Amino acid sequence: MEYVTVKNKRTTLERADKFISPIYFKDVNLRGRLYRDHHALKSLTHFAAPGRITYSQAIKGKFLKTEVGQSFGPTWATHWFHLEIDVPDKLQKEEVHLLWNSNTEALVWQDGNPVQGLSGDYERISFPLSKAMGKDQTKCSLYIEMACNGVLGVGKDSMIGAPDMNKFFTLSQAEIAVFDREAYDLILDVETLHDMAKHMTEENERGYQALYTMNQLINTIDLNDRSTYAKAHQIAERFFQQRNGQSQHVIYAMGHAHMDTAWLWPYAETVRKCARSWSCTIRLMEQFPDFNFTCSQAQQYEWVKQNYPGLYTQIKDFVKRGRFIPVGGTWVEMDGNLPSGEAFVRQFLYGQRYFMQEFNKKCTEFWLPDTFGYSPQLPQIMRISGISRFLTQKLSWSLVNKFPHHTFWWEGIDGSSVLSHFPPGDSYHMTGKVEEVLRTIKNFKDKGRSGRSVYLFGYGDGGNGPSEEMLHRMKRLKDVDGLPKVQQKTPQDFFSDIEREDTGSLCRWRGELYLELHNGTYTTHAKVKKMNRFCEFRLHDVDFLSSVANILSVQNKGSYKFPTEELLRLWKLLLLNQFHDVLPGTSIEMVYEDAHQHYKDIVTSCQQLYSDALTSILGGSAKSDPVTMVMNCMGWQRQEVVTIDTPSGNPAKKQRKSEEVVQQDSKGNILAMVTVPSYGYAIMKPLKCDNPCSIETKSDGPYVLRNEFVTAEIDHLGRITALTLKGGERNAMSSEPGCYGNQFVLYDDIPLYWDAWDVMDYHQETRKPLAIAVSPAKVLDRGPLRVSLVVQLKVSDQSYVEQVISLDAGSPYIRCQTKVEWHENRKFLKVEFPTSVHSMSATYDIQFGHYQRTNHNNTSWDWAQFEVFGHKWAALSEHNYGVAILNDSKYGYSTRDGVMRLSLLRSPKAPDVNADMGTHTFTYAVMPFQGTFQSAGVIQAAYELNNPLDVHSVNPPKGSPEAMSFFSVDNPQVILETIKKSEDSDNDLVLRLYECFGGHTMATLTLKLPFKKVQRCNGLEEILEDGMTSDLEVKGSNISLRFSPFQIISLRLKF
Ligand SMILES: [Zn+2]
Repeated sequence: MEYVTVKNKRTTLERADKFISPIYFKDVNLRGRLYRDHHALKSLTHFAAPGRITYSQAIKGKFLKTEVGQSFGPTWATHWFHLEIDVPDKLQKEEVHLLWNSNTEALVWQDGNPVQGLSGDYERISFPLSKAMGKDQTKCSLYIEMACNGVLGVGKDSMIGAPDMNKFFTLSQAEIAVFDREAYDLILDVETLHDMAKHMTEENERGYQALYTMNQLINTIDLNDRSTYAKAHQIAERFFQQRNGQSQHVIYAMGHAHMDTAWLWPYAETVRKCARSWSCTIRLMEQFPDFNFTCSQAQQYEWVKQNYPGLYTQIKDFVKRGRFIPVGGTWVEMDGNLPSGEAFVRQFLYGQRYFMQEFNKKCTEFWLPDTFGYSPQLPQIMRISGISRFLTQKLSWSLVNKFPHHTFWWEGIDGSSVLSHFPPGDSYHMTGKVEEVLRTIKNFKDKGRSGRSVYLFGYGDGGNGPSEEMLHRMKRLKDVDGLPKVQQKTPQDFFSDIEREDTGSLCRWRGELYLELHNGTYTTHAKVKKMNRFCEFRLHDVDFLSSVANILSVQNKGSYKFPTEELLRLWKLLLLNQFHDVLPGTSIEMVYEDAHQHYKDIVTSCQQLYSDALTSILGGSAKSDPVTMVMNCMGWQRQEVVTIDTPSGNPAKKQRKSEEVVQQDSKGNILAMVTVPSYGYAIMKPLKCDNPCSIETKSDGPYVLRNEFVTAEIDHLGRITALTLKGGERNAMSSEPGCYGNQFVLYDDIPLYWDAWDVMDYHQETRKPLAIAVSPAKVLDRGPLRVSLVVQLKVSDQSYVEQVISLDAGSPYIRCQTKVEWHENRKFLKVEFPTSVHSMSATYDIQFGHYQRTNHNNTSWDWAQFEVFGHKWAALSEHNYGVAILNDSKYGYSTRDGVMRLSLLRSPKAPDVNADMGTHTFTYAVMPFQGTFQSAGVIQAAYELNNPLDVHSVNPPKGSPEAMSFFSVDNPQVILETIKKSEDSDNDLVLRLYECFGGHTMATLTLKLPFKKVQRCNGLEEILEDGMTSDLEVKGSNISLRFSPFQIISLRLKF
């Protein structure tokens, strides 16, 4: 009679756990039998490299004998090892592996080629030697490049701590051994059965079937008799071959290695990370014919192309076979909130062009698994970039509300929609485990509407990617009764299947995909944000001026050469630093040293390119007298007060002094009121100021600043106590006691964990107004063109704010030029404007449009958005009246119950302990308005604040016109945002316009430069099929266009 035991689930599970444990009972368990016949290397030598050098440089190094147990460092250093290996004769027929653990990331080189990455901290420590050596070979010579960092950097005390700069890493293993593949298979059998038994719910009998099968399998194995292994494996096979019914959920598994382009390591390390990760991927592709790998970010392909041409050729080959799959279509996986509209377009333009040029492949899906929120303008930008599908998972990180869908239509502010999917496992680094597969189906919110979901497997963030183990696990899960079917597929398979079968039943989400976490990233690293905005505008200006210079030169047979390569290089630098850990301010200090170097490069080069273009358009004649000229790089005529410069060392000085001085400001600069036409220039002709501004002191204290539009009362702390529009009595600021406009407030800012990333809801309860003047407000300028005050406020014993508050003749806003000396620890500085406006919602400037969010805390969805992103302005309006806040470099806002707040500075300490410490300068402004923000010109005013009129000294040839407009639009509802040379023709310009009010309209664009042909194109500059006719009418130099709300239209003009 067979003896039947009563089985206890818990002990049975734990028995299996210990049977394959890498820690417990290894001397008597199956895991302990994974490797046998260990042998030392024939020789091991080492060379401490002077930095990240190439292979050919490295092998010329002086290699000295070393051994296991030695330590190598410090952090970020590179060490090369030379390994001589002799495989003993008796192991000739066995599968022999090199086992190497330097407890860092490392790369194996063979015959000058990178062949496989290793990473001690992710247990990737074996290199299959037999395969690498080929048949009948017994000797092998390898190099190993050791990078002194882990996959996720070298954080001190915690993962996101600033790097421990003096860490050393011990080489704990360097030997060869026989790999027992049968034992390996059994370990994976036991693990999979164990996980099914453990994670399947009690009502599912299948879990118990797994438990009993697993137990039987363990009983069958005799560790001293390997002939029992095959029989045990068959028991598992029989179980895994029991199939599902047809209705089972299908998981589309795709290999992935989320690679942060820089984060807890510098850019230069990412270059090597790509080689380490992708060489592993290629080895796995050779081994597993159905394994596919998705890989985004053109920049990283470019790095591999430049630094590892052999590996790149292998990648190209697998791309051709459809298995190494470029995805995303962007230059890098950028931040989804902060880049400008044009920068978004360029991410796709340069990304898609790269994939087309290199692989003849255009991506059809946007891939952004790890960004901290998604602008509601992205769907349209995807659509104009040849993309109709979108994948992310980051919203699963939201703290308060669960997003209600995983597969849905995402619709942007203009009505464009894209088919979107969030892999329901809530991760982009799955490992092929049963628990993840069960979580995927459990979480999936669109059951009944769709029966499929994506599963991204492979270690991520620092790269590394899929492992052999993961692929073996998934083989077992392919179609096993009780679990979703796990099939190796591509993004194309997934989205096409949805489009074919499910789209009719999918729900729709309109507007922003707001992440209820990481909302400090709109503010952290203020200088990076400032430089990003500044460089976006400088590149805009250079694009415009160089385009004009180029076309004039082509038409007049001039000698100007368009700086195609240089502008592309600069744009790519800007786009690189919009990566989703750089621009948000969440990288280590080393990354920001690089980023600021890049910004400096952009600014310096833009200055040169601007001046070259200007000289080509207007200068050149050394014989003529220099004149002062004002350039307007925006698409409407502007009348403003300009600052000429300090009156010294300029050839045009004399002329100005005698003819043009209208006001000398407190710094000795010359101010003048000028009018300059749209996208054009005017020779400086100071206008007589008919409506001067003024400043006076009221008997009870406050200063009164006044011009033809606005009157502001400002107290000794620089706070606005009253703000009225000319002809009205109404105070735009709240009259409640204790409420002041331009009130600085300081908050405690201690998040739960993600220091640089997070500001938590409770920070709002720690508000402290700054109310101590170091130096009370005093008058600087008294008009007639500019009046101003200066005030200095105490933040703490180490920090202070100095602010110049000014009003110009003809200006609709009070401008606050601010300098902050900032040395705080986990404090958050904001400025408040409590308004008298009654409204349910506030409006924020975003990419090519604006977006409304609530001004109240009704629901959890409202109050979770206590900090939101916006670009150049935000407005609170009621019927026929409102207040706007403009800024030149800020992105964080919080508007609640009529109080508008602009976020200014944070002071997190991880991962950069020095983040935001030091001196900051920025400008914001407050603008009350009558009517709507659209009709009052808030949008244009914000552009003007960001892109002041530019004064230059030029030597125009005799007879040059005194003023010139190259491009203009007759309707303020349409902004001509971009004027650029097309990427593929010197004689074509691309013009990008958008509807900025949020309504239908017609607009006529007028060009000074005669063109031959105009057609509509998309963001990739490809002519649209009906590009000749649709909504486009040409009469002479006028092009009339019809716009729908927030529509972006790109035109391609032939000259
Ligand atoms: Zn990331």
